[in-house]
Amino acid sequence: MRELFSLLTGITGRITTRFALIVSVAMLITATLGYVKLFQVTAADSSIRIDRASRAATALFTEKLNAEFAAVYGESQDQGGRPQAIRLKGPTAETSLTFRDEYDALLKQIGSINQGAANLFRLNPETKAFDRFATTFRKPDGSMPPPMSISNGHPAYDNLINNRPHLGEVPVMGRMRLAYLTPIQDAAGSIAGALAVDVGWADDLVRARNELRVQIIVAAVLIVILVALFGVFSVSRELKPLRELAGYAEDLAAETATGTVPYISRHDEIGALAQGLKRVEVLKSRLAHLAYTDPLTGLSNRGRYLSDLDKAMNESLTGKRKWTLLHLDIDNFRQINDVYGQATGDRLLKAVAAMISEAAGNRAQIARLNADHFTILIGDGSSIDQIATLTEELLDAIHRPFQINSGEIHLKASIGIVLLQHDANDTDEAHRNAGLALRKAKMDGDKAVFFSSELHDEFQNHIRMERMLREAIAEREIEVHFQPQFDPSTNQLAGLEALARWTHPADGPISPADFIPVAEVSGQIVDLGTLVLDLACEQAAKWREAKFDFKHISVNVSPIQLWQPNFASVVQDTLKRHDLFGREICIEITEGVFLDQSEKRIASVLAAVRKLGVLLSLDDFGSGYSSLGYLNRLPFDQLKIDRSFVSDIDTDTRKQKVLGGILELGRGLGFNIVVEGAETREEVEIVRQMGCDAIQGFYYSRPAPALLIPGVVKKIGESGDGAAAASA
Ligand code: C2E
Ligand code: CA
Ligand code: CA
Repeated sequence: MRELFSLLTGITGRITTRFALIVSVAMLITATLGYVKLFQVTAADSSIRIDRASRAATALFTEKLNAEFAAVYGESQDQGGRPQAIRLKGPTAETSLTFRDEYDALLKQIGSINQGAANLFRLNPETKAFDRFATTFRKPDGSMPPPMSISNGHPAYDNLINNRPHLGEVPVMGRMRLAYLTPIQDAAGSIAGALAVDVGWADDLVRARNELRVQIIVAAVLIVILVALFGVFSVSRELKPLRELAGYAEDLAAETATGTVPYISRHDEIGALAQGLKRVEVLKSRLAHLAYTDPLTGLSNRGRYLSDLDKAMNESLTGKRKWTLLHLDIDNFRQINDVYGQATGDRLLKAVAAMISEAAGNRAQIARLNADHFTILIGDGSSIDQIATLTEELLDAIHRPFQINSGEIHLKASIGIVLLQHDANDTDEAHRNAGLALRKAKMDGDKAVFFSSELHDEFQNHIRMERMLREAIAEREIEVHFQPQFDPSTNQLAGLEALARWTHPADGPISPADFIPVAEVSGQIVDLGTLVLDLACEQAAKWREAKFDFKHISVNVSPIQLWQPNFASVVQDTLKRHDLFGREICIEITEGVFLDQSEKRIASVLAAVRKLGVLLSLDDFGSGYSSLGYLNRLPFDQLKIDRSFVSDIDTDTRKQKVLGGILELGRGLGFNIVVEGAETREEVEIVRQMGCDAIQGFYYSRPAPALLIPGVVKKIGESGDGAAAASA
């Protein structure tokens, strides 16, 4: 119904209406012309006929009954010589105007001449009506028809009662007929009756004309209806392709178009339109390709990723398909760009993109969001184990060394994983949670992490700690405690390690194990490290002033600090500010630093620091994946053996052998060796026997405020075996 409505209000309706109007007007003109002509002809014809009929009737009547009646003919122009009256010569109308056989025969004769009916009327002076007293009419059975009168209201009455002839249509036997009624007057000229004749043939003409009029109207209406129907049918049929093309264009805009543009091979306006639409479609897909492709890697871009994620999320929520989202980030990529230049960075990104494509295969939708962030959507129903395997493969592939002109680059990446169906309710949440999992992965270092709801709380805490830490660094609320290192053979002080301490006014003391990773992730480690270096140097200057021989103070430096282009000059400035010698300070670097970045870069930074006379210590030795080659090539003075090699060494003979081997190696390479984390007398004893330059552990002393250190050192120096351990 609606469709029909829109069809008729549309082009179809308008064109059809116009055609129907034109056809109607054309028919109206031709039919009117024809009808008017016919009307004129029939009118003229019938007036001639009736004229003759009236003359013939009057003539015959007055001729046959010339003793009784005389004819009166009109003389004026418009009367045209037609009979105006039949006048009685003598006797009264009552006697003359009554039925007699003679009249019957005469009327029959008039009727047959005129091919019509003839009637005689007599005026009844009382009723003032003209009563019929003779007629040519008969009932079908031959008997006389019922009586009839011309009374007031009859079309001829007014003329007759006023003694005038009447020419016009009158009701005869149930229909209208053209008739001529001639008044019959008495001898004095007063109206007394009438002779009425009609002409059948003329009547039929008029009747045919009237019928024709009806037929013309009916035919015209039918033709207009036909034209309208045909117009609606044929126009709407012609417009059908147009409607389909419009529908296709709409689908194209709504991105729901399937198949190809219809009517493309037609050689008319429709075909031209279809080809135009095809061009729009091609252009659209080309634009979409450009708009959705990352120009560097050829992967999808962020826009495409968001729309893919949207679809994947929908499918996951409706249970149609299970999707997994991986968010991969290359660690410290910015520094690679800074050091090796944009072109090498781009080459690496392309290589990473290719590796991801190869590892994830064509089952995945891979996008690059920005710089070094990649996303991988997997919708093939992989199990959690399969996803874990894939992420391992991805990380392995990225770990493989890249050859560049100036050597090798080792990349590290982290991956956050979200199971869309399980971990998110919408696209935003999915993306956010992948980010949280990625963040966790980065903090844990070189890992793939599945999202879990605890990450939310962790993140909140993290954000809070980040804010608090920023304030603490700005307000210099960070303190430094010192942990002494002793030569186990003499119990004399060998050096001190400065360790950051943070006591929050409300939350109390916060462990470096908690805030150092936060500082590293948020980049605050640079300011924090600079502050700690400054505090350590400040204390060193005070101790020198106080003539306390502290040997050197070791300061921990995060890999991120080493990557600051001005690191060596920060160290230099700090030394200068506190008027210290380089050898009074030792910089501790953890092994992890070498995995991150190429050796060359580190080597030049370390060389610059070393030039200042500053000692260099390799911290947590043995805990990571350090290559022994570094020990040869990089300018370290000291090795700090990780606590894990010392704890419970008195009960674990295997551990003793391992530690023995490490110590031998270190000594062989000429390093100064500090063993970390000896807690008991037994552990200290074993390490002492193996031989090392210093031990740093709770057995001697926990980290303590600077004020307490000289006392602790004195006590241990005097005790002979360090038994007075565990201060603070
Ligand atoms: P680290 O550089 O290996 O520092 C030694 C850590 O071992 C200290 O923990 C110290 O208290 C602990 N320790 C020493 N002897 C023993 C022992 O006998 N038994 C046990 N169980 N532990 C012992 P602390 O102060 O909690 O520091 C933890 C880590 O935080 C440090 O490990 C270091 O990596 C980092 N850190 C601390 N201060 C700074 C800083 O100023 N800058 C940077 N970048 N990192 C810092
Ligand atoms: Ca350390
Ligand atoms: Ca350590």
